[in-house]
Amino acid sequence: VAWVSENARSVWLPRFEAVAGALATMELRSVAEGFRAAALRACAADGLVDLCRHAAALGLVAHPFDRRQLPLAGEPSAQFHYRPERPFAFAVLVTKRADLARLQEEIEDPSSRASLLGAPACCAGFVAEACRDGWLDPTWPMALKSGPLRDLVVDLASNPGSNTLLRPIGIYPVFHSPCSFGCPETVALWRGLGDLGRGAGLAEEMSWLEEILSWPTLWSALHGIAEIKNPVLRLVTTTDATGEKLEIRTRSDRYPTEGARGIHFPYRDASCAPPADRPLLQIIR
Ligand SMILES: [Zn+2]
Repeated sequence: VAWVSENARSVWLPRFEAVAGALATMELRSVAEGFRAAALRACAADGLVDLCRHAAALGLVAHPFDRRQLPLAGEPSAQFHYRPERPFAFAVLVTKRADLARLQEEIEDPSSRASLLGAPACCAGFVAEACRDGWLDPTWPMALKSGPLRDLVVDLASNPGSNTLLRPIGIYPVFHSPCSFGCPETVALWRGLGDLGRGAGLAEEMSWLEEILSWPTLWSALHGIAEIKNPVLRLVTTTDATGEKLEIRTRSDRYPTEGARGIHFPYRDASCAPPADRPLLQIIR
């Protein structure tokens, strides 16, 4: 992750870390409170004992059942399969003890796996279809279902409840892969998860999360590398290899004070700042 400035980093890094921590907590709490049947966590060997303890503290069991390749950067992803002698993380199923035996079988099928992890039927069907079509990363097929495609660019209005572009760094609105940016079922779940977070004393983290996911964000992909830019940071991760450059733009009026200024999307020109910030107007006043 590269930050656009030291100022942006000093303000937002602690908030991103707090939000990612809150979401990790909510991953398990949502299972303990019956919001969904199970959580699937990717966990390095070092973190396995802690994950088992957290699960036990909530009356749940953590069951490592597979391994996942680590991507170039960010969180390990369910999509990249294990190859020997490369860095990996455990795939861990967290659920109620009574459900474990049944879920161990269901987790093998992409569609029932998505449902167990809380996906609405439309999104579970979409994930199974994307998987059948050979996509490792569902981001691009999701964008194609979301808005018009022009010159390999999908241009959308920002919708924080279904914006999963920052998932590689542990910042996401819902636990599943939505079928589109703006899937109404997903947005309804996101509202429920927000209430769950606020009920667990994570109100500040939930409002930062909503703010971050509302910002204009640019996702672009070429030759298997995805670059994601928002007003405060840029990150690089792994995606499906394509010979042409693909882009997703989510547009928004919300922009952090610490965001970089620039003429190219997702950055905002300094002239878009509120009038009070313009020196000339201040002099007139
Ligand atoms: Zn959906």
